[in-house]
Amino acid sequence: MHLVIVGLGLIGASFAAAVKKAGFGGSITAVVRSQSSGVTAVERALVDHYSLDIRDAVKTADMVMLAVPMLAMRGQLTDMAPTLPTHTIVTDVGSVKSYFAEQALAALTHPERIVPAHPIAGRERSGMDAADETLFEKRRVIVTPLPETAAANLDAVSALWAMTGAVLETLDVEHHDRVLAHTSHVPHVLAFALVDALVKQPEAEEIFRYTAGGFRDFSRLAASDPVMWSDICRTNPEAILKSLDQFDLHLQHIRSAIEIGDGDTLERTFERARVARSQYNDVQS
Ligand code: NAP
Repeated sequence: MHLVIVGLGLIGASFAAAVKKAGFGGSITAVVRSQSSGVTAVERALVDHYSLDIRDAVKTADMVMLAVPMLAMRGQLTDMAPTLPTHTIVTDVGSVKSYFAEQALAALTHPERIVPAHPIAGRERSGMDAADETLFEKRRVIVTPLPETAAANLDAVSALWAMTGAVLETLDVEHHDRVLAHTSHVPHVLAFALVDALVKQPEAEEIFRYTAGGFRDFSRLAASDPVMWSDICRTNPEAILKSLDQFDLHLQHIRSAIEIGDGDTLERTFERARVARSQYNDVQS
């Protein structure tokens, strides 16, 4: 099997490292934007080859995995389409599945080869230097096959993810984007908003000097890559806005309770949240 990974950042490089560690028998080519990234990736034995030219790299690919920011996917799909062999499976790791599915269906001629997937694993650091061969161990990977996706192609992508130690689940594309808007996209937006709002306060320096506990935990998400999260917001706006509106209503409810000193409402709300959080404390970001 010749696997081509487009984009060797945190997720692409971690995937390459994980399957190699698990004894992947095929060869891996990384499509990168700079020669120095390619040379480093080969030196570190993350991949066997590198290419700066996606059209050339995919000519002999059995599977192509896109691991670039969401808005870069369209260009990569269009660029690879003319030289992509008819049997090649095309998968991705993007955080928004409907956008990838739409772009892949528009660019590629064989929809049965398209297998969208999303590892629910990551961290605030990005780039190849942050790669970790254990990143996906015991973490969920959601595959979101299209109605047209061939079962054999779904199995091939699932088998590679299983090699990384991930636990596979299946959702449909829209369901994935709705759920992830609530559990991942909106929490990141809130963290970015909170930290940005504090930065604008006149006493910002003092606020950040005393960061500890709650603020540190909550604001961790705001250390994430701005391009990646801007792309996620721009490719999943409907679900994110819906989730934000629901949250806004709830926040207003809590705000009113604080304003009028309604301790019962505050305690009930916090208790419901505490119980829910401890029941689902195995849910990963
Ligand atoms: P990353 O570490 O920033 O890596 C992105 C890679 O894409 C880098 O190799 C970068 O190349 C390349 N790239 C960036 N912009 C590009 C462009 N315009 N055209 C071509 N290549 C480009 O990002 P990541 O965390 O691996 O994320 C990759 C994908 O995984 C994203 O779609 C993201 O939504 C998804 N994802 C991320 C996480 C997470 O927690 N990080 C979790 C699950 C899924 P250079 O090295 O040359 O900059």
